[in-house]
Amino acid sequence: MDTVLDRHAKLLPDTGEPGFGVYVHWPFCAAKCPYCDFNSHVRHQPVDQERFTAAFLKEMAWMRQMSGPKTVTSVFLGGGTPSLMHPNTVSAILDGIAKNWHMPDGIEITMEANPSSVEAERFRGYRAGGVNRVSLGVQALNDRDLKFLGRLHDVEDALKAIKLARDIFPRMSFDLIYARPKQTVAEWEKELHQAIDFAVDHLSLYQLTIEEGTPFYGLHKAGKLIVPDGDQSADLYEATQEITARFGMPAYEVSNHAVPGAESRHNLTYWRYGDYAGIGPGAHGRLSRGSFKIATATERKPEAWLDLVEAHDHGMVEQEQLGFDEMADELLLMGLRLTEGVDLARWSQLSGRDPNPEREQTLLEHGFIERIGNSRLRCTPSGMLILDAVVADLAF
Ligand code: SF4
Repeated sequence: MDTVLDRHAKLLPDTGEPGFGVYVHWPFCAAKCPYCDFNSHVRHQPVDQERFTAAFLKEMAWMRQMSGPKTVTSVFLGGGTPSLMHPNTVSAILDGIAKNWHMPDGIEITMEANPSSVEAERFRGYRAGGVNRVSLGVQALNDRDLKFLGRLHDVEDALKAIKLARDIFPRMSFDLIYARPKQTVAEWEKELHQAIDFAVDHLSLYQLTIEEGTPFYGLHKAGKLIVPDGDQSADLYEATQEITARFGMPAYEVSNHAVPGAESRHNLTYWRYGDYAGIGPGAHGRLSRGSFKIATATERKPEAWLDLVEAHDHGMVEQEQLGFDEMADELLLMGLRLTEGVDLARWSQLSGRDPNPEREQTLLEHGFIERIGNSRLRCTPSGMLILDAVVADLAF
């Protein structure tokens, strides 16, 4: 059996550059989870996958015109639940990307999957089509909390899916949500140790957040759902950092942990503020044009997006040229999430100025940020706990 290092040897090395990613959004799920504010929809009739495939290919060609020729460094099939896609749909999407842009062998091609929609045949089909990394939405390793989170799978399904993903794909990650109601640090530590035992090289560990417009939001507002307060969340976060680092999967981003070298290339493109084409309903993109970036967003409703693409070859509803200040703020917002921090020369280039020395000094003195040599700035572990405030202070 391949070791983790063998598996990584087959992947092109991370150059440290922002790269160019292609994101494709599959907007359907078998059920809507009560905490989810993603662009995901439940349909009780079969989805016309051929029609969607044709629309993805059309919009891709449109995005290619906008981006110009590029070398793709990663592909991400997200959702929704992309593992509801037929393997032929996935193959057609990947072939389409390769026709529109240069797509070298060995780039990371990730697909999100839910344990309830995992089947061996399908997984083999995705692998044959080119997918080399799967990100599984496990979310919890006990049945009580899976039920609370509205998930359609139980722990047994999750473990089967993890095993299958490990057997079929060179790389695999799974997500867990912590800071659940009444969850103690001791319970979370136990679950995290189990997760590390099952993990291959990457884990995404998110705190439960209450998003407006979700059923959890209504319950929370009515006082029927109580999540850990700031101090409890900080204790859970610190335990997460300590345990993952101790077992060789340190955080490389606020919520993402990997064996060094197994970081998600695609997500690094977002956090390093690279370019990406966003295809499908509700997908966002950032495409450079000269010294600026164009922010793109497509229609969120799947059927309305289909109609737009069929009529106009794209479903874009927003296309905005970002100014220097906006680009510099976005770079900070994304880059300070990373333990590698932000490249100050790039920040100055985008913003046309250096960081405000007084504000930087204050944050340095409080121990919330630190310099890495002369060229990079990053958050310290205590700065990560108040990341939004640090970014707001440094931004325009
Ligand atoms: S499976 Fe994922 S995308 Fe779908 S509703 Fe649940 S959390 Fe949202």
